[in-house]
Amino acid sequence: MTKTYAVIGDPIDHSLSPSIHNAAFRALGMDCTYIAYRIPRGELREGIDSLRQIKIAGFNVTIPHKVEMIKYLEEASEECKVIGATNTVSNEGGKLVGYNTDMDGFLEPIKKRSIPISGASVLLLGAGGAARAIVAGFAKEGAGKIVIANRTQQRGQELARFASGLGLDVECTTLEQAGKDAGKHRFIVNATAVGLRGEPSPISTKTIGPECIVYDIIYMPMNTDLIAQSKKNSATVIYGYEMLLGQAAIAFEIWHKTKAPYDAMRKALLGGF
Ligand code: NAP
Repeated sequence: MTKTYAVIGDPIDHSLSPSIHNAAFRALGMDCTYIAYRIPRGELREGIDSLRQIKIAGFNVTIPHKVEMIKYLEEASEECKVIGATNTVSNEGGKLVGYNTDMDGFLEPIKKRSIPISGASVLLLGAGGAARAIVAGFAKEGAGKIVIANRTQQRGQELARFASGLGLDVECTTLEQAGKDAGKHRFIVNATAVGLRGEPSPISTKTIGPECIVYDIIYMPMNTDLIAQSKKNSATVIYGYEMLLGQAAIAFEIWHKTKAPYDAMRKALLGGF
């Protein structure tokens, strides 16, 4: 029988996950399908009940359900508990088991380039859900100092407390000051929503130089202003689509217990732009 997978969230129409996973099924000749399923805010319980009824094999979770999802799991991985968000669920014989693949998905393109993280200084822009998974990733890899710059200072401080609890040496700053100091950091990560609509970089890029690694987790558009300016300054750049692919490949491996066909998934994703 065909196994069904899904991504749940709202809005969900423009999700690239169905193309990525269906391409993987085609590449490996698997009898599986992956659909986008809209579950509005406040209707997660009913949505999960219907997924259980159709014996969903697994699903991804996106905005606005990543935090609430934990309530409906029979079991949660350590990452889910630490980050407080679930983005991947596996139906293991009727038991819903939650995972968070955003953290390792974020780290994957850095590791692929063999860039060491241990002891490195990080400037993190943003303090939302994605930033939390990123902080957990840097903590896991033993990063050095992390400076968090967020528009809303209070939210930045909350994330700083979380980072400090994970053993990171942390400081908060403003986006304006972050632009002045950016060049002092090895990693500069944009986890704000600034750039999604083609806006200018959230920070000044003047001090960014060839020693910096600039990672913009926004994947649409692929070439944000931050990425374009950083490339001009000869920095190493990492694209948001690489994180998207990284988390999808890890989810694939959790569900199917086999290596993800990364190139087929990448081709499908890039074709979607
Ligand atoms: P979120 O929880 O809503 O957080 C949004 C962040 O953006 C907050 O820090 C917010 O600051 C900041 N922000 C929004 N508008 C801003 C503005 N005009 N000026 C300055 N800061 C602004 O969202 P999220 O889930 O963390 O996602 C953040 C971004 O990452 C989104 O663009 C999303 O598409 C992307 N993302 C990519 C991947 C991937 O796989 N590549 C995965 C997850 C997310 P305040 O606290 O001040 O509101």
